[in-house]
Amino acid sequence: DRVPFRRALISVYDKTGLEELATGLHAAGVRIVSTGSTAKRIAAAGIPVQEVEEVTGSPEMLDGRVKTLHPRVHGGILADRRVPAHMQTLADMEIEAFDLVVVNLYPFVETVRSGAAQDDVVEQIDIGGPAMVRSAAKNHAAVSIVVDPSSYGAVVAAAAEGGFELKTRRRLAAKAFAHTAAYDTAVATWTAEQFKDEDGDGIIDWPAFSGISLERAEVLRYGENPHQQAALYVDKAAPAGIAQADQLHGKAMSYNNYVDADAALRAAFDFAEPAVAIIKHANPCGVAVGSADAADPIADAHAKAHACDPLSAFGGVIAANRTVTKAMAETVKDIFTEVVIAPDFEAEAVEILSKKKNIRLIALPEGYGRYQAENRQVSGGMLIQISDTIAAAGDSPENWTLAAGEAADAATLADLQFAWRAVRAAKSNAILLASNGAAVGIGMGQVNRVDSCKLAVERANTLGVTVESTVDAAGGAAGAGDAVSVKRSVGSVASSDAFFPFADGLQILLDAGVKAVVQPGGSVRDEEVIAAANEAGITMYFTGARHFFH
Ligand code: 5GP
Repeated sequence: DRVPFRRALISVYDKTGLEELATGLHAAGVRIVSTGSTAKRIAAAGIPVQEVEEVTGSPEMLDGRVKTLHPRVHGGILADRRVPAHMQTLADMEIEAFDLVVVNLYPFVETVRSGAAQDDVVEQIDIGGPAMVRSAAKNHAAVSIVVDPSSYGAVVAAAAEGGFELKTRRRLAAKAFAHTAAYDTAVATWTAEQFKDEDGDGIIDWPAFSGISLERAEVLRYGENPHQQAALYVDKAAPAGIAQADQLHGKAMSYNNYVDADAALRAAFDFAEPAVAIIKHANPCGVAVGSADAADPIADAHAKAHACDPLSAFGGVIAANRTVTKAMAETVKDIFTEVVIAPDFEAEAVEILSKKKNIRLIALPEGYGRYQAENRQVSGGMLIQISDTIAAAGDSPENWTLAAGEAADAATLADLQFAWRAVRAAKSNAILLASNGAAVGIGMGQVNRVDSCKLAVERANTLGVTVESTVDAAGGAAGAGDAVSVKRSVGSVASSDAFFPFADGLQILLDAGVKAVVQPGGSVRDEEVIAAANEAGITMYFTGARHFFH
């Protein structure tokens, strides 16, 4: 069932391996037809080639927008050799059939990534290329379609053996359709994003986000549990993320490693300052920013994040939003850690951490970014939403409303702002206590906000490093000389991912000595909540924004 390659159509943007391909095909007696610069390259190698213009009798026009969109090209690709009427039509119109089509497309995704202007990106939407690919793939009963330069060796070998077998042509067709589908998804996604506001309604083009162009990159050992099969798929049209990251050291990433590392990245990259997040089971057990005056801000951020909950940080996944330094590596090396992920690692940091056999070191690709939309499967379908980011008006302190107490001083306001960003990393209901740019107690994933408050306070006061202070539990000065061990909840600030529906949750924080609170506000019982804050004499801000995370 082989179909010999008598005549080939070659039109490639990426000229990798082109000369070898043309040489091999010519040696096997295949006649070659080709477009503009592809033909020039083949001719320059001394191989006979017919210009597609000569075949169509029509010049390439409109700056290359129309080159191969012609019945003499598509008729030659699409005619079904098994249908006598088709072959008669070719004969009547003096159209010759193509048996082999080799095409690769304009670099649309690469052009978008390069930051090119809109018009330049539009010019890189290949029209004739995908049309030829789809025509040839459709007619795989007779035609072989090749979209990948790494297949050229097999093509040349097949040329000498009387063409590809049917099963190979079918496999090539499936690959070709996947290729054009991925290409069109990238075009559709970009177009929807570019023009979403021009419609005036701000509605995104939903289907563009559901057909992510995925290719299987790796079969994982197993999924969330050992009895579940799993694989990693890479989206070629997506901003570079964990799926494209580079592993510098350690065992293969597991399914759960990927999930946790991605959650850690999301948390660490919510901050502009050097920041570290430590994640267990997709929830943070430490988040901190490095102090501006620290000698090594990212090492400082890690030390502060780790101090939040050293018990839970055992076996955790650490993400940093800056290069991992030698100083940070020196501390991490003594803590059992599954994964460290960061934009980069100092060579000495890799050396230090590589001594640990089980730690995985992952360097992010350049241009790290996240999807603008998120999918979640539900039975029978899919939910799609625009991703949550810290970009709402209510995420900026200048837009916060003072709901109770006095305006916070600069240091307290900075901690409130930190706590507001950090709480987004914790699954709802989430309460986060912070001081000095670090979480000190996180309550998350509870089915009521009271339990989250209790958990945050309990963790603050039992897990971390107990601090010696001369401030007593009520926030007043302790008697001279009698320094007492205080709890970390005292004098901390608190953030809540959503409003307090009653005053009861807030009351737990107030009893624990929290000095300022930031929360969305908007409950029907806000007055009760405000009264409790006023009663305790603390500061409370309303953001008007909410960050549920389920
Ligand atoms: P060349 O470098 O040979 O001048 O052009 C090759 C590229 O043109 C390939 O990437 C191919 O997909 C694309 N191409 C071929 N025919 C057409 C067409 O009719 N219109 C457009 N826009 N692109 C085409």
